[in-house]
Amino acid sequence: MALRLFNTLGRRVEEFKPLREGEAGFYGCGPTVYNYAHIGNLRAYVTHDILTRVLRERGYRVNHVMNITDVGHLSGDDDSGEDKMIKSAAERGKSVLEIADFYTRAFFNDTDRMNIIRPATVCKATEHIADMIDLIKRIEAGGYTYTAGGNLYFDIGRFEGYGGLALLRMEDLKAGARTGVDENKRGAGDFVLWFTRSKFANQALVWDSPWGRGYPGWHIECSAMSIRYLGEQFDIHAGGIDHVPVHHTNEIAQSEAATGKRPWVRYWVHNEFLVLDKGKMSKSAGGFLTLQSLVDAGYDPLDYRYFLMGGHYRSQLQFSWEALDSARNSRRSLTDRLCTLAAAGGGVNAAAIAGSANGVSSAVQARLAAFHSALDDDLSTPRALAELWGLLRDAIAPGEALWAALQMDRVLGLKLAEALQAALETKNGPGESPEFAAEVEECIARRAAAKAAKDFAAADAIRGKLKEKGVILEDGKNGTVWRRVKA
Ligand code: AMP
Ligand code: ZN
Repeated sequence: MALRLFNTLGRRVEEFKPLREGEAGFYGCGPTVYNYAHIGNLRAYVTHDILTRVLRERGYRVNHVMNITDVGHLSGDDDSGEDKMIKSAAERGKSVLEIADFYTRAFFNDTDRMNIIRPATVCKATEHIADMIDLIKRIEAGGYTYTAGGNLYFDIGRFEGYGGLALLRMEDLKAGARTGVDENKRGAGDFVLWFTRSKFANQALVWDSPWGRGYPGWHIECSAMSIRYLGEQFDIHAGGIDHVPVHHTNEIAQSEAATGKRPWVRYWVHNEFLVLDKGKMSKSAGGFLTLQSLVDAGYDPLDYRYFLMGGHYRSQLQFSWEALDSARNSRRSLTDRLCTLAAAGGGVNAAAIAGSANGVSSAVQARLAAFHSALDDDLSTPRALAELWGLLRDAIAPGEALWAALQMDRVLGLKLAEALQAALETKNGPGESPEFAAEVEECIARRAAAKAAKDFAAADAIRGKLKEKGVILEDGKNGTVWRRVKA
């Protein structure tokens, strides 16, 4: 079955059909690097990661682009408030570039730990000012702009169909429902393309432009960089649900005004929020949870990944430590189950690594198919996880089940092969291959059966054979463990 995604543009589930056969151009809004990512932000990037992995599994060459916002993002998405980067730099006594560099590294440290594949292209706003200026010139040439108070604004009234993504009504926007808006704006929904007579006397980063020395508004960077790397029309754009009414709405207006091509983006994918018991999590409000705070509390970053996949990306997800405990337990049971299968089924055999489905029983194939169809159905990770558990519970053919679990992990990204290897090493001593461990486990099982049948000669013979291979058995109250005596 084909991949179907809920498209915010039109509000319905649609079959994914790329612009170019076999390719998927995908832009996901990246972080504003003025602070650590909070665990809510990381939900957005896990969603992007699942989407990228599913597209890859369906055979698409995914061109995944992500921006790093290191200039121009004010605390209010509607150009109100302070510049997040400048505020953070002042508070920490550092330069804006130092802050950006530090938190960009911290961001990738977090995403790496959560096994989020790095996008093919990561682009910084400050390195694409020329692209932004070029795009703004095109918007201006089309008559969509005006200058006021030293800034260049986008006039949303000139853009037909403004707000379609968010189902906004022009009457409401004109009424100027927002408070505290910039007085230079003709309409409350208009937004800044370029600031010159800065509202921030301390703006650290400024560039020359046709409108004067200044710096870009926030939204223009995503239009400019996505067009630069993916072309004037592309397949998928993603971000958190909060971006629908302002940021993405404005990105569409700018991009389509500049190129005249509609639709700029064919599929809009938005993740719902992660919320705390107390409500919304926000970087600017402070007091938020980071991945490191979960690690410090004794969790593995992949526990958090598992927790996130337990919810559908379009449903709000409530964070709690109890729920994280439960995710950690599930992940541990998963590893235990894999160990049992490895012992019973000949380990992670060559077929598992090679990834060939030939000869896999129909029951295992059915599980795999159900797993993929869950993901094809608007990325249902909760159902996909249920299929993984179903597979492991059935344990139809242990070796095959193990193989299929590792296939599923190509999308889930839980590092199951590594977890299995690590568990076997803890159990069996470091450096053992799963094949060897499984062979030993099988001998241990035969020996236990011989002992149970009071055939002590056979049991001793098995122990003797293992000893010849350098394997020492130790019987304890929890069964037999083994270790290899290195020659
Ligand atoms: P920012 O760094 O603030 O630009 O946000 C990075 C990404 O995280 C954006 O796609 C936001 O929409 C998303 N986001 C922000 N808060 C949350 C949250 N609590 N839950 C899920 N996604 C969020
Ligand atoms: Zn963006």
